[in-house]
Amino acid sequence: MAPHTDPSGSSGARFHGPSDLHLHSDHSDGTEPPARVMAAAHAAGIRTAALTDHDTTSGWAEAADAAASLGMTLLPGMELSARHDWRSVHVLGYLLDPDDLVLRAMTDRIRRSRLTRARTMADRIGRDYELSWEDIEKQTTAGATVGRPHLADALVAKGHVVDRSEAFAGILHPRSPYYVELYAPDPVEAVAAITGAGGVAIVAHPAGRAGLLPARVIDRMLGAGLAGFELGHRENVEPALSTLRELVDRRGLIATGSSDYHGLGKPNVPGEYTTSDDMVARIIDRAHGSAPVFP
Ligand code: AMP
Ligand code: FE
Ligand code: FE
Ligand code: ZN
Repeated sequence: MAPHTDPSGSSGARFHGPSDLHLHSDHSDGTEPPARVMAAAHAAGIRTAALTDHDTTSGWAEAADAAASLGMTLLPGMELSARHDWRSVHVLGYLLDPDDLVLRAMTDRIRRSRLTRARTMADRIGRDYELSWEDIEKQTTAGATVGRPHLADALVAKGHVVDRSEAFAGILHPRSPYYVELYAPDPVEAVAAITGAGGVAIVAHPAGRAGLLPARVIDRMLGAGLAGFELGHRENVEPALSTLRELVDRRGLIATGSSDYHGLGKPNVPGEYTTSDDMVARIIDRAHGSAPVFP
C-alpha cells in the first residue's frame, strides 16, 4: 500500500484548497528558498501547494518542513524540460519517486547540459558585453538547476538590461546569436519517465503563444501515461486553450490551474490560478512514487 493512502480510501479528507501546484524556488530559477516560497503561497491563502523546480527535486525536504510548520499540504513535484522539434515543452511531474534511476539519469543529463549551455552562452555574450562566468555564479544558488533566468539576472546586475523580461526579449531570445540549445528529451520520453517513477504527468502551460503540440504527439504522450493539462495558466491563449479543454472533457483528463510563481523573477503571484479539490484528489490517488506531506 502506498504510504499516503488514506484508510477511508479518500484522499479528499486529508487536504483542502485553495491549491497552487506550480511554484519555483531558488533550487531552479525562482528567487526565494523553498521555505519562503511556501510562506508566500500561504500568505496568498494557498493551503495545498506543489514545489515544481525545473529538473530537480532538491528543494523537497525544505519545502516539506515549511509545509509542516505552516499547516499546509505539500505535493512534491518537478517541472521536467522536454523538447519537440524547436519547441520547448515543460512536463510537470507530481508525487514521483525522486530516486527512480531512469528519471534521475534524465534529469542529470539535462542539468549537465544546462551548465555547459549556460557557460557557452556566457562566453558568447561576453564577447559583446562585460560579463563573466563569476557574474552568473553570483546569481545562482549552489546546486541549483541553472537556466537563462540566471544569465538574465547577471545581465541585470551588470546594468545591461533592466529586468529578466528585457533579457529574454533580446540577448537571451532563441533567435539571438548568443542562444544555445540545451539537451532535453522528447516529450513522450519525459512523460514515460515521470509515469515510470510513479508520478503524475501534466503538461505545463500547454496553450502558449507557440500553439498546441501536434495532435499525434499529444496522443503518444497520452499513450505514455500523460494524465492531463495545466489549463489555468497566464500564458495559455485562445483558440488553443478551448481545443485542449474539449480534449480534457472528452477524454476525462485531469485539468489543473497554477501560478508558476518564480519569486521576484516573474510577475506571477501565488494563487492567481488554482486547481480544484477533486482534481488534486485525482492526482494524489493516481500517484504512487512519493507521498504528499499532509498537515
Ligand atoms: P531555459 O530553460 O534555461 O531556456 O529558460 C527558460 C525559463 O526562463 C523558463 O522556465 C521561464 O520560467 C523563464 N522565462 C522565460 N521567459 C521569461 C521572461 N520573459 N521573464 C522571466 N522569466 C522567463
Ligand atoms: Fe522557470
Ligand atoms: Fe515552464
Ligand atoms: Zn514553471
